Amino acid sequence: MKYIVVTGGVMSGLGKGITMASIGRILKNHGYMIVPIKIDPYINIDAGTMNPYQHGEVYVLGDGAEVDLDLGHYERFMDVDLRREHNITTGVVYSAVIERERKGGYLGQTVQIIPHVTNEIKARIRGVAERSGADICLVEVGGTVGDIESMPFLEAVRQMKLEERGSDFLFVHVTLVPFTTQREQKTKPTQHSVKALRELGLQPDIIVCRGKEELREDVKEKIAMFCNVSPEAVISARDTEDIYEVPLLLEKEGIFSYIMEMMQLEQSKEDHAWKMMVERRKKSSYGNKLVRVAIVGKYAGLEDSYLSIKEAIKHAATALECKAETKWIEAEDLEKESDIGLFFKGIRGILVPGGFGVRGAEGKIKSIKYARENKIPFLGLCFGFQLAVIEAARNVAGLKDANSSELCETPHPVIDLLEEQREVVEKGGTMRLGDYEVFIRRDTLAERIYGKTKIAERHRHRYEVNPEYIGRIEREGLIFSGTDRSGTRMEILEISPGKHPFFLATQFHPEFKSRPSKPSPPFKAFLEACLREL
Ligand code: GLN
Repeated sequence: MKYIVVTGGVMSGLGKGITMASIGRILKNHGYMIVPIKIDPYINIDAGTMNPYQHGEVYVLGDGAEVDLDLGHYERFMDVDLRREHNITTGVVYSAVIERERKGGYLGQTVQIIPHVTNEIKARIRGVAERSGADICLVEVGGTVGDIESMPFLEAVRQMKLEERGSDFLFVHVTLVPFTTQREQKTKPTQHSVKALRELGLQPDIIVCRGKEELREDVKEKIAMFCNVSPEAVISARDTEDIYEVPLLLEKEGIFSYIMEMMQLEQSKEDHAWKMMVERRKKSSYGNKLVRVAIVGKYAGLEDSYLSIKEAIKHAATALECKAETKWIEAEDLEKESDIGLFFKGIRGILVPGGFGVRGAEGKIKSIKYARENKIPFLGLCFGFQLAVIEAARNVAGLKDANSSELCETPHPVIDLLEEQREVVEKGGTMRLGDYEVFIRRDTLAERIYGKTKIAERHRHRYEVNPEYIGRIEREGLIFSGTDRSGTRMEILEISPGKHPFFLATQFHPEFKSRPSKPSPPFKAFLEACLREL
């Protein structure tokens, strides 16, 4: 087993996750089996209770694990399916150690960070790597070098480096090279962060320098000298419009040949599919087919809270060879307006994403009504599905006060907890998470979109359509075209294509399964409908 460990310096948000995902993609293109692990040094067991408006979206894996959005980058770039064990947090490590201590697993010993916590970390990394059967395991250590939280993890990988063969273990450090107004490239932050790393006993083998523009040769040489690596090991990673281009840029900079040499890799197979996909994306973004869709959500300025949706739209646009632009609309802003048409000027489709809580909910309902009445293509996801059911109940089935019991007390809780869920109402641990099968009714829009009647998609929700109201809503021309196996949980709502150009909402989150070369079917169909009228 070979390991590549990615650390980051200077500041967070440099794109360490994308760098690691790109290295994984490059190795995969050359025929290597890879397995990624993300280390998150926070004490939370997982990202389930974290606020997306601070950390970006909570990404959901097939097994229901709620994880950091970097795992989404890994799945999309490397085209792999990950599980809970691919995300190691401080919380996971410490609770395992403490549990073992209580069970007498360390009898007679004083349990300490070194060696007990570090051993636990190493065992977990090696366990995942070995079980995967991969050739190379990639490990991203979250946070920035120097943070107290990441110390035990950095110590663990320091030890691993000594325990493995030299050519089997590589450190990649991602830093920032800022530009002055005179476009001078400054190396000092990189020098300092590598110094911090070396103080912990870690010497980077490769330094990936993020920056606005490509690094100059003399700057590379300077970094190489001060940071104790060869100039070929300094890789320039300039900003790019398209994150999917990063693997190509890094490879052009020589990262693969350097890794190959250092790790004594032999294979040099090459798969060009990724390159072709990126070229297709370039072509479509220059083309004249432009489609603008609105996403009505709660942002607090952080578009990363809907990252997978943004990516899924891009994937669909690539397949349809068009350029898709998103307009972010703050749901609360719609609530005060009587004429919301102004917000949707030039917009070809409306998407209402997942969410929690009452803030902005009425604004989202307003936009769904607008899409339904004005025959604008509409895609609702999770909370967006539930709000579409509420909108239909209120304005089509005439249940004026219809609402979700998550949001308020109502005589018509069309979205509610099911009888069987009532016993466990405590927050946390009560959500329906991960892959569940969805059964699609024949001769519906949903069947046409997926081309089959049984699918599996990822879920993250607590509330359900109240079975008591299904009949009343369906009588008015809306169709629940997908359900769970038992038929009690509603999964898809649609208006038949004869009556609306495109109206589809799903209780699940199709965005989590979308890949750059395999767009999610609902996203593709939605964008197709948006394009149709151009
Ligand atoms: N708040 C809703 C629920 O818990 C929807 C969740 C979501 O959109 N992810 O059911």
